[in-house]
Amino acid sequence: MIEKLPSPVVNPDSAPYWNAAREGKLLVRKCRACGEFHFMPRYLCPKCWSHDLDWVEATGKGVVHSFSIVRRAPAAAFGDRVPYVVALIDLEEGPRMMANVVGEGALDTRIGDEVRVVFEDRGDGARIPQFVRGA
Ligand SMILES: [Zn+2]
Repeated sequence: MIEKLPSPVVNPDSAPYWNAAREGKLLVRKCRACGEFHFMPRYLCPKCWSHDLDWVEATGKGVVHSFSIVRRAPAAAFGDRVPYVVALIDLEEGPRMMANVVGEGALDTRIGDEVRVVFEDRGDGARIPQFVRGA
C-alpha cells in the first residue's frame, strides 16, 4: 500500500505561512522591534523576544548552506521519491530553512548553489515550499 505524502500540520502560529504557500508565496517573519527576519514561524522574535512581528513575502531566492541525499525512504510514501535531496537553504532575507531541492539536476546539488522556491502540491490545496537549482 502506498501512503500519501504528508500534508502540513497547521497551527495558529503557522497558519498564515501555509495559507500563503497555497497561493505560491513564501512568507517569513520580521520583527518590528529589532528588524530581524526569522524562520520557522514563531510568535516571539528569537533575537529580542518581542511579540511585535510582521509577515513579509520573501523573494524565494536562496543559497544551499548544506544538503544530504536520502537514499532510503523514511516512510512508504517516500518510496517513489528516493533518492532525493534535503537541504538547508539560506534565504536572501537571512533565515535558514530546510526543504527539498527538486527538479532537473537536483541530485547534482552542491553547497553554494543558488536556488529559488517552487511550490509542491500535496493535495487538498496544500502546497510545500521546495527549491530548484538556478537563480
Ligand atoms: Zn526582535
